[in-house]
Parts: sequence; C-alpha cells; structure tokens
Amino acid sequence: MDIPDVVTLTKDLVAFPTPSRVSNAAISDYLQHLLTGLGFDVERLSYDDQGQEKVSLVARKGAGLGGLGFFSHSDTVPGDQGWNPFTPVEEGGRIIGRGSCDMKGPLAATIVGAARASFTALKHPVVIGVAADEENGYFGASQIVRESRLLGGNWPTHAVVAEPTELVPVYAHKGGTTITVTATGVAAHTSTELGTSANFLIAPFLAEVSGLAPVFKSDPRFLNRQFTPPSFGFNMVLNDFGTKLNVSAGKSVAELSIRNMPDVDNEGAIALITDMAARHGLHSAVHIVDYFHVAPGNDMVQAACRAAAALEPQTVPYGTEAVIYQTRIRNQVVLGPGSIKQAHTVGEWISVDQLHQAVAIYGRLIADICAR
Ligand SMILES: [Zn+2]
Repeated sequence: MDIPDVVTLTKDLVAFPTPSRVSNAAISDYLQHLLTGLGFDVERLSYDDQGQEKVSLVARKGAGLGGLGFFSHSDTVPGDQGWNPFTPVEEGGRIIGRGSCDMKGPLAATIVGAARASFTALKHPVVIGVAADEENGYFGASQIVRESRLLGGNWPTHAVVAEPTELVPVYAHKGGTTITVTATGVAAHTSTELGTSANFLIAPFLAEVSGLAPVFKSDPRFLNRQFTPPSFGFNMVLNDFGTKLNVSAGKSVAELSIRNMPDVDNEGAIALITDMAARHGLHSAVHIVDYFHVAPGNDMVQAACRAAAALEPQTVPYGTEAVIYQTRIRNQVVLGPGSIKQAHTVGEWISVDQLHQAVAIYGRLIADICAR
C-alpha cells in the first residue's frame, strides 16, 4: 500500500464524525485497514459504551524490544452549530474541520512519519496507539494500558503523546482533583417547619473553605513556578438541585477542584478541604487525575528538543493521556502539530505547514530512538 499524503489522510479522518458520544468503529476500521496495509501488526480493543462500540487500536512495526510509541485518539468533541464540521476544507494553508487539530491531523502525521521509516536500519519497533474516548474520561487509553496483548511484556521505552503543542516539546502538565462535599437535609414544605435545609448545613463550610482561595494563590507550598499560572486554579461550584424557595433543600453539594502539580503539597491541600468538611459533619469524596511530569532533561524530552530544533521544553495547563501511559512508559513527551487554541472551537483548523513539519520531526525521532 502506498504511504498516504499527510494532508489527504487528515482530511479523510476529519470526514468521519466521531464525537465521543457515538461509536468510533468506522474510523477504527479505516485505520486498521490502513495500518495493516502499511505493514503494522494491529490489535483491536473495544468495549460497549451504552450501546455504542468504542474501539482503540494498537499497532506495531519493526523487530526488537522497546522502541518509540506515538499515542493519539480518534474521538473529538461535538461538531457544534454554525459550520460543516465533518466536511473538511483545505484553504489558505489550513485544513478546517472538527478534529483537524485535536487530534486527527497529529494522528495522521504520526502514521505518515512512522510509515516512512526505514525499518531495516532500526533495532527497535515503532508503535502507534489510537484511543477511544480521550475527550470523555481516557477510557480507551486505560483499556490499552490494562489489556493490550500486543504490547504485553514489550511496551515502548519512549513515547510521544501527539496532542497539539505547536511542535514545542512539553515535559509536564497539571492534573485534576475533584472533591465533592455533600450535605444531606430533610426536604419539606416550609409552611410545616418539618424540614432541615441542607443549604444551611453546608453554609458554614462554604464560608470557611472560601478562606482557602487566597491561601492557594500565595502560600509557596501550593505554588509551582514552572507553570503559568503557578497555582491550582482552585474553584467551587454549588448545586441544590433547583430547590424551590418554599422547600427546604434535601441535598446540597459543593464540588471543589484543584489542578494538582508536581513538587507541591497536593495531599496537604486536599486534606485541608476534607478535614474541614469532616469538622462540619459533611461527607466528602475525592477523585484524582494525576499530573504528567518528567524532568526537562529526560531522554525523550531532549530527543524531542533536538528533532524539533526547540531551545527549551515547556509546560502546559491542559491535561493529556500522558497521565495514563506514564504508568508504563518513563520517557514521554507531549509533542504535536497545531495549536491548542484551535481545539474544541467552531472553525477548528490546523496549519498544513505544521503537519509537514510534524512528519519530518517524528521521522527524526524514530531514526534517533529506534536505531540506538
Ligand atoms: Zn486531544
């Protein structure tokens, strides 16, 4: 099979409508056929998501152990109104369409870059991973990590997560912690005086927890100057489920969020909130999505800086599936064509020039890492 052109392949992928709520089986069939034709061994992993089949692919080409993996996803956010999201248009040096930048263009660049490698000269294989449901809980990547038999005892030693970074290597990003604090009252009509308002029960906690907002912006224990901004982005939303004013709220919930970071006291910050909730007799539950972090001098990061002719690796404030793959792969970088400013927008686009550059950079990375 001929190696596709990166622009044509990007447009072909954008033309599959794959918002996370629908099945991605059709685009996965297409990619499986393509990767098989290009000489990859392909594994298909799937699960049922409320009647929708969700498929993730793992593909490997080349002999030997370890090697370099490129990880992407085939789902997108919804198409939204006001444009034709799944009819890709090439115009003014850009490809316009939903997923062009996040991240079907980057995915196309990894496939073309890998397909062009001269495998006879390489000692280690190249892996392509394409996950389902990145925009919706990282379920596909989690399934790859848990269940891939193709990778099994032979995971790549190095990996690129190909999210759009404008081809600047990224060595760290924040995580996300959600703390859900719940007050339970007794709902009753206020004329009866038989109720207990959950809002009155949670209010003293809300007053006290508000005092943490300035602390989280100023206490050095909670700041990491490698990030812009250096703080947690501490936030709170409230929900009493639309209780009417003549009813005492049966339940009131405060959700608090912290963008956890390396080298700060995340556990201490979470404990400040959960201990406070306990003192007020409230129930709390904590859900943590880890941050991604390797040293700026990490082997993969430095290889990426050389391949992309970048002076310095950077951090970003958004999350990626690097947090899932870091449980298996120590040497990781986030590096992809396109700008995150375009992701999830109406009129999303990617620069054709960035796509061609990405193919070249990924090729140089393979020639470096897989030939050692
Ligand atoms: Zn993405």
